[in-house]
Order: sequence, then structure tokens, then C-alpha cells
Amino acid sequence: MSTTANKEERSLNFLEEIIEADLASGKYKTIMTRFPPEPNGYLHMGHATSICLNFGLTKKYGGSTNLRFDDTNPVTEDTEYVESIKNDIKWLGFEWANELYASDYFEQLYNMAVTLIKKGLAYVDDSSSEAIAEQKGTPTQAGRRNEYAERSIEENLQLFADMRAGKYKDGEKVLRAKVDMASPNMLMRDPLLYRIKHAHHHRTGDTWCIYPMYDFAHGQSDSIEKITHSICTLEFVPHRELYDWLIKKLEIYPSHQYEFARRNLTYTVMSKRKLLQLVNEKHVAGWDDPRMPTISGMRRRGYTPESIREFCDRIGIAKRDNVVDISLLEFFVREDLNKRAQRRMVVFDPVKVVITNYADPDGEELLTSENNPEDPNGGTREVPFSNEIYIEREDFMENPPKKYFRLAPGQMVRLKSAYIIKCEEVIKDENGTVTELRCTYIPESKSGSDTSGIQVKGTLHWVSVKHAITAEIREYDRLFKVEDPSSEEGDFKEYINPDSLKVIRAAYAEPALKNAHYDERFQFVRKGYFVLDKDSSTSGMVFNKTVGLKDGWKAGK
Ligand code: ATP
Ligand code: MG
Repeated sequence: MSTTANKEERSLNFLEEIIEADLASGKYKTIMTRFPPEPNGYLHMGHATSICLNFGLTKKYGGSTNLRFDDTNPVTEDTEYVESIKNDIKWLGFEWANELYASDYFEQLYNMAVTLIKKGLAYVDDSSSEAIAEQKGTPTQAGRRNEYAERSIEENLQLFADMRAGKYKDGEKVLRAKVDMASPNMLMRDPLLYRIKHAHHHRTGDTWCIYPMYDFAHGQSDSIEKITHSICTLEFVPHRELYDWLIKKLEIYPSHQYEFARRNLTYTVMSKRKLLQLVNEKHVAGWDDPRMPTISGMRRRGYTPESIREFCDRIGIAKRDNVVDISLLEFFVREDLNKRAQRRMVVFDPVKVVITNYADPDGEELLTSENNPEDPNGGTREVPFSNEIYIEREDFMENPPKKYFRLAPGQMVRLKSAYIIKCEEVIKDENGTVTELRCTYIPESKSGSDTSGIQVKGTLHWVSVKHAITAEIREYDRLFKVEDPSSEEGDFKEYINPDSLKVIRAAYAEPALKNAHYDERFQFVRKGYFVLDKDSSTSGMVFNKTVGLKDGWKAGK
């Protein structure tokens, strides 16, 4: 993988190779994929990979992609999650052909189960889950069938109908496929197809008290929708044998399952179950906390859909599990934001500069500054200048080392888009803290029409004191202290970084930021990329730091 390679140069990934072969041989005229989230949490960056892959393939080769909610587990699912998932996919820039729900297939799935029973390929088992587990054997030792496997087809049909009718309590009976108790693949040892669960379902309400297991819903739903390439993650490799067995025995549309490696990122966790714990235990401010690896969190943080798509596309897919450095994702975010972010000046920790020779002490003028030097159509804005400005406290040093190009006594710097100033006097309070810097400015040194002939090496950002607006700034660090919290000893939450959020209550911003909009992206000059946060109200603006300016990621690292 090389981030400098052109898109055109990227070789086909293994799924693209399969699809191109399938289309060339005429196996399929058009392809059909699906994205099948379980609505039990908000989508994260791993899902983004799967979305970009599934939707990306049909975008590239024609065909369509369904959004199918895999809602066969009534207990953990919720409509809030359904809505957030739809919102996130749209935001990423994809459109599904059909919005579907596995629960819409419950009747068809029930009938398929009846078909299997009629073929003598499924039976109702009254054993406890412990007994079933025990009879399954071990990977090196065959399992054994119990007496329930001998039930007649008629008896099984009746019992299964009674299960549906609600005659039994949770766990009293299950429906199992009759496959092979000696199979080296444990999943083939008479796997469970249905379980009893008297629970309210977010879509089907109380219509059902039996629910299909993942293995008896997923492949069958693929078949119903005539999915040609059913793409899932590596942990489903052992399930493929059962997937194929069920399709063959039911004589339904032959969808095919293909597996790729889960996408993991450093310094975070990528599992809805773990992310839910962070939310419930209030380690973060919600699913869309800007530190979360969720799509909604990244959106709030200021990541663009373009940069996420580019990341997924350029990094490709793997057949082996791997952890990708989060700074690589940040690299793509920064690359994209550099092109689209409007430049603004914001001083985080101010020290006042008084320009003593500014013509009229009450005077002020409007200077012109480019919105984005990377964008020829970015336009300009007016920045008010006056005899009192703020600069960053860290941009002044009373006793600087050699080659210090910022402000120091007797030294000159340029104020961005404004003038060259020279520090003449340092005012301090009784504790020795600098409270004011008295400077003179060079009137002929105005940016754009500089005739002063003076060369300075440092350029500082600044804001005019009387024009500045204040804003809260939230800066984020890694959510975890270690690269892979899930693989560390003990609970993953022990590795949470306690300093992942830094708040600056009142930074001073140039007035143009007053009109900032949520979908605008900004570069605060010399500070990084920022976006307006939803916590902003008329009483106060809040900005999230998306990512810093520096490229932390080095090729080959
Ligand atoms: P989680 O453990 O976070 O709940 P999941 O795989 O159970 O993840 P689903 O809602 O079942 O989540 O997943 C929907 C789709 O997204 C599946 O096809 C799944 O394989 C894919 N997916 C989920 N996590 C990742 C990941 N980290 N990398 C790539 N694809 C993923
Ligand atoms: Mg899942």
C-alpha cells in the first residue's frame, strides 16, 4: 500500500478480481451486494469500510446495493439505531437500492424451516443449551445425536407450529438442522435454526415468539434478495459451509459468501458492544462524541465523507486481520481539509500588543485576507486591524535563543495579512508575567503592497482586541493510551486516556467566524483544522479540533 500511488495505479482487490471474472464469464449479468447492519448500535469506522466496499463495488461495476437491517435479535435492537445508520450511510455519500429488514422475511423464513422439516433435515430438540453443548463433542471428538433427532416429520411439524404459537417458554425447545454431528466444522453439528424468545420486536411487535438464528436468516435473506456477492468479515469463514448447505437443501437462489478482514484502527476499540459501554458508563459524551470511532463521532469531529471514502479506497481490503494506524486516516482528513478549509485567525492564549505609532489611536482599518490559498476560487475576507491586538503568548519570548523568528524585544515579525511590527517595550505585572507588549509598526509594510524592503522570517496570527469574538475550543487526543486496548490484559476501559479532552473556554477569534456554519470547515492559522460543534448556541460558539496541521504519519512507519 502506498499513499502516493495514483488511484489509477491501484491494483484490483481480490473481490474486484472475482467480480470481473464473474462478469466476464457471464455468470452474472449484473451484481448485487448488501450492507447488513444489526441495529444494535451506531456505525463505526469498521462499518464505513464495509459500506465503502459494498456500495463501491456496485458503483464501479453497475448493479445495486441493498441496505438490510439484520434485526433478528429483538432484545438489543432499537429504531434509534435504525435512523442513525441510515443517516450515516447517506452522509458517507451512498444510496441504497432498497431499505429492507430481515424481520420482513420472518414468514418466508418460517416456511423455509418447515420445508427443511418436511425433507427430514430439521428437528425440534427439547434439550437444555448445556446438554446441546455437551453433546456437540469437541473439535477432535465427534458429537452424538440425542433421542429428539429421531422425531418423526409429523411430530416435528406439530412441535414447530406449537413453538410459533407460543406454547413453550424461552429455552424450552429449539429447532435444529440435521446435518452432521461428526463434521470437523463444529458449526455443522446440527446447528440451531430457531430459538424461543418471548420478546417485543421493534418492528414485528409481539407477532413472533420464535426468532431465527443468524445462520438461518442471513444466507436466506441474501437469496431472497438475489444477492450475488455477500461480503462479510473473516469470522464468518466457518459459517460458509452452513450457508452453502442451507441454500442447497432449500434449493433457493445461490448467493455466495466472501470474507475479508475486519478493519481495526490503533488507539480505539471497534465493536458496538464496547462502544456502548463507553456511552453507558459516561466515559464519553455519547455515540457522537468526537473522540469516538463512530461515523457520527467523526462527523462531529469535522472529518469529511470524502476523506473517509478516500481512506477506505486507498487502503484497500485485506484477507488477514490487521490494525491500521489512526494517523493514516488523519493523513487523508488533513489532505482533504487543506483543500476545502477556510483560513481564519484565532488566538488561544492571548497577550496584548499595543501599536504605539498607529496613526489614530482610535483608528482601525479593514485588511483583506485570502480564504484559502489552496483554492483559487476561495475568495477573500475582510479582517479588521486596530492599534490593540492579541497575539499568542507563546509567540513572544523575552530572552530568545538564536534563530528565534517570533516576537522578542527589539525584534520584528510580520502580522499575517497586515504589517510588520517591532517590539519596543515589555510590560509586566508584579509577578513578572507579561501583560502587554508595546510595539511600533511599519506603515509601508502592508501585506500585498509592501514597499518597506524589510525582510522578516516570522509571521504570526493575531486578532484585533476590540473586534474579537470569543469561542470555546475543544481539542482531542487519543481515546486510549495503548495501540490496541482490546488485546491488553484486563478490561479495555482501564486503558482510557484521562486527558483525551482539553477545553479552552475563551479563545479570541476574528469576527468573520461569527457566521460559521456547521458544515463549513476551517483552518485556524497555525493551529489546525476546526469545525463548529453542535453544542454552540447563540450565547457561545464551540469549535472542535478535527486534526492538527502537522503530518504525524510517515510513509513506511
Ligand atoms: P460489532 O462487533 O461492532 O457489532 P458487527 O460485525 O457485529 O460489528 P454488524 O452490524 O453485524 O456489526 O455489521 C454490519 C456489517 O459491517 C457486516 O457485514 C460486518 O461484517 C461489517 N463490519 C463490522 N465491523 C467491521 C469492521 N471492523 N471492519 C470491516 N467490516 C465490519
Ligand atoms: Mg453483529
